[in-house]
Parts: sequence; structure tokens; C-alpha cells
Amino acid sequence: MSGSGSGRAPDDLFLKIVAGEIPADIVHADDEVVAFRDVSPQAPVHVLVIPRVRYESVAELAAAAPQTLARLVAVAQQIADAECGGEYRLVFNTGAGVGQSVFHVHGHVLGGRGFTWPPG
Ligand code: IMP
Repeated sequence: MSGSGSGRAPDDLFLKIVAGEIPADIVHADDEVVAFRDVSPQAPVHVLVIPRVRYESVAELAAAAPQTLARLVAVAQQIADAECGGEYRLVFNTGAGVGQSVFHVHGHVLGGRGFTWPPG
């Protein structure tokens, strides 16, 4: 499967996690989204929630499959409810200039500690 216009990027690490081709600490999986722990956690709770189908950005996902974005957000909330009392940051880095390094949209669920504002 591939998102509209995105296809399977040959280097899409997250599609390999969805396919079970590389290991991940998966905390949730359903027919639309998969959630797994970030390999380099920036907080006590740091989980990535992704659509099974690749879209590059959250805006692309919202335009093409809004129900999947809604599921992604609901799963983020479920994880935060279970792991950090429902208080969390949900971050979608969009663009290399602000830190996006994997171009398969993913929401970072970050919690379990305090955060500063504005972010660095
Ligand atoms: P980005 O910088 O917003 O694109 O976030 C990509 C995230 O993916 C980073 O926080 C990485 O630590 C994380 N990451 C990279 N490779 C893996 C992996 O194999 N498993 C889990 N997380 C990963």
C-alpha cells in the first residue's frame, strides 16, 4: 500500500517496521496505525504513531486520509492516558529544517516529564 502520490520510498524505515522487516518495540497496532517506542527517547515516554500507509507530512495525511489522522491522534491520547496521565506533547516535525529525518509522517508522543516553551 502507498499513500496518494507518495509510494514506497526505498529508504522508508518506518514501512519496514510496519512490515516487520526490522524490529521495533510496538505498543499498538490496528488496521490504520502502528505505534512503537522511539529508539532514541527524548522523554520517559516517547512513542511514534504512524499510519500504515506512507504519507510524507501530516498535512498530506490530513488531505488524503483524515480518518487515519483522527485515529492516529486518538491512539496518541490512549498511549498518553496509559503511560503519563494524559499529559503529553504531540509533535509532527515537518521539513528537514525543523528536524524531520524520516519522511513517513509520525506523531511523537512525548511525556513523563516537564517541557519548556518555546521549544528549542
Ligand atoms: P523526526 O526527526 O521527527 O523525523 O523523527 C524520527 C524519529 O525516529 C527520531 O526520534 C528517531 O530517534 C526515530 N527513529 C529512527 N529510527 C528508528 C527505529 O528504528 N525505531 C524507532 N525509532 C526510530
